[in-house]
Amino acid sequence: MTQKLPFAPQSLLAQGSPCQQQHDINDKQALIPPVYNSTTYLRDEDNQYRSGRVYSRADNPTYRAPEELIMALENAADARIFSSGMAAATAIFLALKPGDAVIAPTVMYWALRNWLRTFGQDFGLKVRFIDTHIDGAVEQALAQQPAQLVWLETPGNPLWNVSDIQAIAESCRRHGAMLAVDSTVATPLLTKPLELGADLVMHSATKYLNGHSDVISGALACRDNNAFWQRIVALRAQNGCVPGPNDAAQLLRGMRTLHLRVRESCESALWLAEQLQQHPQVKEVLYPGLPSFAGYHVACRQMQGGFGGMLSIRLQGGAEQAIATAAKTQLWKRATSLGGVESLIEHRASIEGAGSPVPDDLLRLSVGIECKKDLLRDLEQAFG
Ligand SMILES: *Cc1c(COP(=O)(O)O)cnc(C)c1O
Repeated sequence: MTQKLPFAPQSLLAQGSPCQQQHDINDKQALIPPVYNSTTYLRDEDNQYRSGRVYSRADNPTYRAPEELIMALENAADARIFSSGMAAATAIFLALKPGDAVIAPTVMYWALRNWLRTFGQDFGLKVRFIDTHIDGAVEQALAQQPAQLVWLETPGNPLWNVSDIQAIAESCRRHGAMLAVDSTVATPLLTKPLELGADLVMHSATKYLNGHSDVISGALACRDNNAFWQRIVALRAQNGCVPGPNDAAQLLRGMRTLHLRVRESCESALWLAEQLQQHPQVKEVLYPGLPSFAGYHVACRQMQGGFGGMLSIRLQGGAEQAIATAAKTQLWKRATSLGGVESLIEHRASIEGAGSPVPDDLLRLSVGIECKKDLLRDLEQAFG
């Protein structure tokens, strides 16, 4: 047996697996792990299930390579992939009990905020939305009224507010709350929430992890394999919010270039943010990597190797100019979602509708891996 070396994230990603364990489920020595389309597993002759696998609603060996890769990147005790980011996030909330209190950011991923305000509240969760990125806000909220769970999203959609995971984790520990972080935008490469004291980390794997806008998937990872985590694992099996095995295999393929895609997106996003900040048509650029941005100092501490590929711009010409700009771009595609190799542009206020806290002069930009100068030129011609 050779000793297992502590390889760097890019080595693990390129290999598609941190695990020697792969060989347990791959007796043909295939370089790429096989896809197991089976929905069910054979019982042993003496009526046992020594493989540990019974039925694919609970688990499928195809999931294990992406899960172990996420575990290695997040330095997690365990990880599970889900049928979507929303399925992963809501598994955490549904593992709570009716009557439990939750604190979440005022501005966060819109669909999840909507879920918390409708199904989450109907389920019996008492949800308080506060500005988690304001220094001391979570501490104050927990001191006023305890909560079972604090939910963070950092950088948070689509204003990219940065919440201080380490400081908030200390508050959570003091007040006996669990801390979960939606780290979709930071990716497992730029921020490691579990190392900063969070209990759970969530990713929409639809975004950077897969990175090619062709798989809907989600992931959770935990700092401790405790009773709450086991409740989440049981909930995934019983609610059946599992991905198809082919999606899991495609996710693993996407992840193998995560480090290259994220590096390129971060570099281009920072450059675009700096250029756009000087453009006369642009009122404000929201990006954690700009020293003028409120969350810059926490981002410098909390994000390593880049400030992410997401930024937003507010235009001098208001909503009208924002919508007209999105209509005129050619390289930037008009679509919702983020984290793919292709750059996307979106007028968020339109998609979020009434009650959205997002200014109507704002365009959200997901920076892909195209030539950054082409991306800038395309925006400039579209400003009109
Ligand atoms: C997309 C997204 C989600 C939801 O993930 P799906 O895979 O679309 O269900 C949650 N949080 C953030 C930050 C996202 O960008």
